Amino acid sequence: MNYDSIRKKSFKNAFEVLQSQNCGCFYCLKIYPTSEINENCIIAENDGKETVWCSKCGIDAVIPESTEYKLDVSLLKKLHVDSFEIDDDFYD
Ligand SMILES: [Zn+2]
Repeated sequence: MNYDSIRKKSFKNAFEVLQSQNCGCFYCLKIYPTSEINENCIIAENDGKETVWCSKCGIDAVIPESTEYKLDVSLLKKLHVDSFEIDDDFYD
C-alpha cells in the first residue's frame, strides 16, 4: 500500500477508524485508542460521510490501524513530511 493510499484514509474515515482499536494522527504523530475519539471529533462531509478529526490536535489527519500497513510513528512521520512539507530534520 503506498503512502497516498494510506493518506486518503484520513478523509471520510469515521467508519473505518471507529472499527479499529487504535488510530494515529500524522499531524501530531500520536497513536492512541479510538475510544478517545468522541462525537466532537467526528465531522460530517457534504455527502454525509464522516471524517474523524484528531482528538489531540484537532487536525483531520487521523488514520486507522490496518492489516495493510504498520501503524507506527515512522509511518506517521513519513506521511507528515509528505503532507505538511516540513523538513524531516525537524524531528531529529
Ligand atoms: Zn493529531
